[in-house]
Amino acid sequence: MRVRRFGAVIGAATALAMGLTACGSDSEKTEAKTVVQKAKDDKKLVIGIKYDQPALGLKKPDGGFEGFDVDVAKYVAKELGVPENGIEFKEARSENRESFLGGGQVDLIFATYSITDARKQQVTFGGPYVVAHQDTMVRADDNKIAKAKDLEGKRLCKAAGSNSYRRVTEGPPDGQLNIPAKTVDASSYSECVAKLKAGALDAVTTDDLILAGFASQQKGSFKVINDPFTDEKYGIGIKKGDTETCEAVNKAVTKMYQDGTAKTLMEKHFSGTGLKIEATTAPTFEPCA
Ligand code: GLU
Repeated sequence: MRVRRFGAVIGAATALAMGLTACGSDSEKTEAKTVVQKAKDDKKLVIGIKYDQPALGLKKPDGGFEGFDVDVAKYVAKELGVPENGIEFKEARSENRESFLGGGQVDLIFATYSITDARKQQVTFGGPYVVAHQDTMVRADDNKIAKAKDLEGKRLCKAAGSNSYRRVTEGPPDGQLNIPAKTVDASSYSECVAKLKAGALDAVTTDDLILAGFASQQKGSFKVINDPFTDEKYGIGIKKGDTETCEAVNKAVTKMYQDGTAKTLMEKHFSGTGLKIEATTAPTFEPCA
């Protein structure tokens, strides 16, 4: 009995020691190479983008990608030493952005990714590289929702992993209006928009840039009510703790504004959508943490 117990203790201690060793070498591995170092050495990056949001991140029928986030990602990658053909784009849906960064499936994320207090606990954010504002889109013939406060009691889309529904139904820090509404689940904003069109919900409320993209993709079907009520700071998602990469991407974003590229890209993707384009100076960056 005594021997067995002793053996069990030794076993546990050995397992603990092995576990610690494994942990130690794992963290050494991740700490050994930051994303900015990997970019410099390998000239390759895996970047998470949306695949279903017109004007921001969209997979084209020919397999290519287009949108503002895609172009910003290419610009920043180039500044880090990675040419366009060194980028592998991966679909980052709202609900898997944190786990993709934490698990190393992607190096960086450019996917309409608002910097929020809750997410800052899990992610290091570069930027913001642009500030959107939450607005509301309804069917073109809907006259009942004219202001954000009219969303009370209405059927709103709740895209999995996204923060936008919370801005309506909850209060600060990550909410805003704190008004009751019924949420209808969807897996993405393209599904929200399809459900709005089909009459399965009353409104899609999310970033004006996202709504502008859908409204101009499907002209005549929807209207954006133009009652913005938040600042959505689009951050560049980085694995928590990689502040070296955060500083480097911020340098790239500063340059993107100084050389006029930010304005050119905003105009390329959003002119004609009715959005006011102001992209002359970079937004104030969040601390890299
Ligand atoms: N920017 C908002 C968010 O990050 C809505 C868009 C999205 O989920 O991608 O939650």
